Amino acid sequence: MSVALCKKGCLLAATLHIYQAAALSQPSAVSLAHKMKSHGVHMRRHLDSSAPADDGRLALEVKSSAELISKAGPARHHGHARHHGQHRHGPSWSYGTPDDWANDYTVCAGSGQSPIELQDSNRTVLGVLGTDRLIDRVSYIPLRNLKIKNNGHNEQVDVPTMGTFNLPDGRYDLKQFHFHFPSEHMINGRNAAGEIHMVHQKSTDPSKIAVIGLFLESDPNFLGGDLPEGQARKSEIDFMNNLGFGDVTTLPEEEDEVDLANTGSASSVDIMAFRNEFAGDYFHYIGSFTTPPCTEGVHWYVMKRPAAVTQAMVDNFKARFPAPANNRPVQDLNGRKIVVDKTSV
Ligand SMILES: [Zn+2]
Repeated sequence: MSVALCKKGCLLAATLHIYQAAALSQPSAVSLAHKMKSHGVHMRRHLDSSAPADDGRLALEVKSSAELISKAGPARHHGHARHHGQHRHGPSWSYGTPDDWANDYTVCAGSGQSPIELQDSNRTVLGVLGTDRLIDRVSYIPLRNLKIKNNGHNEQVDVPTMGTFNLPDGRYDLKQFHFHFPSEHMINGRNAAGEIHMVHQKSTDPSKIAVIGLFLESDPNFLGGDLPEGQARKSEIDFMNNLGFGDVTTLPEEEDEVDLANTGSASSVDIMAFRNEFAGDYFHYIGSFTTPPCTEGVHWYVMKRPAAVTQAMVDNFKARFPAPANNRPVQDLNGRKIVVDKTSV
């Protein structure tokens, strides 16, 4: 992996770090968070929810919090002439050499990493099948005037108050969502065409992060054919269209962002377009951020039902991220439990 500056994508990772650090209730972390914000970096967090975070892990993460600032690159908002002039972050990393991430980000070699491979057999083999459904836990409102930005590693939409994910330990607020093509999690031995990650942070404890993963697929035979049809499909395609995916892409190029209010697709973006998927089975396990610094303790909720995308949408995302694709390979489970339709392992 090159030692070159992280020209782009460091944002998400740095973002996540900071939050985690802050979560640890360290005053220094909080001030770091302020600094980040003053540099135009929106912080997000990921940790989890229902299960108490592992103190050992968190302590580990905190140790590296001082580095967070240097790893956090300011977002470049070309459309708003917000160039901060500083691009020094931590070591850069590439999807082309994921095995090298741990050289600079040791947690990436940890035993609780994401993504992982999921199996339908998790339902029965593990004997932990619940009856819970995310549709009863999520609530999102449609929003207009969002921005989508290309941070060099993915296309991301930061959101103001857009919705909540209610877990047994409290309310988690949606902070941002972003995309990976192909998917990062695998299911039944294969990747889906893509995956959306909806990143939530606990309202009363910013150190706790819950991420909902949603597979995106264009192949109608994926997983035996569980793609939505009719109006449900149209709503999902509209969701993607409204972000700039489509026959003619308006997705921002590297380090740019696009103000969706100015693209001609100013329709509201409604995550509830995925209500069919929220109503289906989901897998839950404890993992990590899938980008450096790979912080662990993230509570993952990956829905089994895929949502619909068109091949053109897959292609126009890949045109922005030609090679390597922006998906981390699956990681060893290392004895972790996966539960189905339950909020805690
Ligand atoms: Zn992600």
